[in-house]
Amino acid sequence: MTKVISPASSYGNLNSMTVKKKPITSGRVRPATFAPYMPAGVISIGDLEQLVEQMKESGAEKVKFGGEMIFVWKGHERPHDPAPGYQSNNFKAPLVRPVRLCSAEVFCQRFKQPVLELARTIDERFRGTPLPVKLHIGIAGCPRSCSEPAVKDIGIIGHNQGYEILLGGSAGLGPVLAQSVGLAKDQKTVLAVIEKIIAYMQYGGKKMRLGRLIARIGKERFLEESGVAALLQPWDASTGERSEQE
Ligand code: SF4
Repeated sequence: MTKVISPASSYGNLNSMTVKKKPITSGRVRPATFAPYMPAGVISIGDLEQLVEQMKESGAEKVKFGGEMIFVWKGHERPHDPAPGYQSNNFKAPLVRPVRLCSAEVFCQRFKQPVLELARTIDERFRGTPLPVKLHIGIAGCPRSCSEPAVKDIGIIGHNQGYEILLGGSAGLGPVLAQSVGLAKDQKTVLAVIEKIIAYMQYGGKKMRLGRLIARIGKERFLEESGVAALLQPWDASTGERSEQE
């Protein structure tokens, strides 16, 4: 008979686990991390409780989710307001989706620009904004692009010189790679770029993903009409990639 292994049993003995911290390099401290493998990303509530308890006991302080956290009930009825204080993400309506962020500076030392607060601010200001179609935003602290900004409607990549902006990517049916359109010198400029794009999509009234919209009217015209062109500095994506090699 095949033995069914509970996900929790495959974490190992966390209490006896020794975690080596890497030495300080370039003034950055690499924090100890542990990313428990969960088959297909699914875990029972009981195992999750046990895991959280084990992590608390081992001294862990925070959790970073790479994807969505979705609680599932047996029946089709969800209790009213099951988690007071938490809003539920809406993955169906046409609106600005929650930012997809890489491990960022708190959890990864390879970042070229800090992105955690930027992601939080973008979510606070724009998440849930109604649009004719959905809009995905992906942010990566460096060109390694762990959050896949090249397949997001708006992709943001940290470089030593600032934040590269990519537009028009999408995954799913007919995936499209985003185009690099320029460099935002700081976070304030990134926020202004996103604001302009959302305003253009809201009032333009076109029911098409950003990539299709840009393909329809042309990149230069889109950048000019939306006001994005005036905010960005020229950026040669290939030069940027070469200069970021380590
Ligand atoms: S994109 Fe860069 S900074 Fe972000 S997690 Fe990946 S390697 Fe780290």
